[in-house]
Amino acid sequence: MLTDLEHIRLTDRPLIVCDVDDVVLQFATPFQAFLETRGHRLLPRSFKLTGNIINGSDESVIEAPAVRALINEFFVEQERWQTPFADAVDSLHALGKQADLVFLTAMPPQHAEVRRRLLDQLTLTFPMIATEEAKGPMVAALHDARPLPVAFVDDMVHNLHSVGDHVPDCLLIYLPPPLDIFQFAPTPQPGVRRVETWPQALDVIRSHFGG
Ligand SMILES: [Mg+2]
Repeated sequence: MLTDLEHIRLTDRPLIVCDVDDVVLQFATPFQAFLETRGHRLLPRSFKLTGNIINGSDESVIEAPAVRALINEFFVEQERWQTPFADAVDSLHALGKQADLVFLTAMPPQHAEVRRRLLDQLTLTFPMIATEEAKGPMVAALHDARPLPVAFVDDMVHNLHSVGDHVPDCLLIYLPPPLDIFQFAPTPQPGVRRVETWPQALDVIRSHFGG
């Protein structure tokens, strides 16, 4: 199943667990374009979707259930909307030569098949888990305290903290996309390494792995 750990087979190499939305595939930018096709707009006034999506005609706020429905529709149509960030695909292939790479993508499980197909189309055939469970326990179960280096890459501070709490020896890499709305994102705790680009992430991961 694409929604659990059972199908993942690790080798005796270091492990990199990597988020997908707004780390590998663009999310916020195409989601805004998608909203416009529905007559809505996203106002960059705080770091959340719910409360900041408004109806373009009367400026009323779209309520939480309707926001969830919009995100679901977007994920159904993700192959039409989502493209990778510059350098992400090449960087992941470079890392995949020296480490096991696993995508840990937070989305309702019904979208796992489409997400898998989109990643495959982009040559990103690394294993993937699609789940809405907390990322820390997932990475802990995957890594299983093996005596090998482990790294985690995400654009959401709460995910980085979750993994830090459950996998103390994990290198935590914060890679926020270059978007205005991330100016409102919370600041990560000390111990989380912030980078601005995939090539920087590559350098930091490689030096952590000792190569
Ligand atoms: Mg993300």
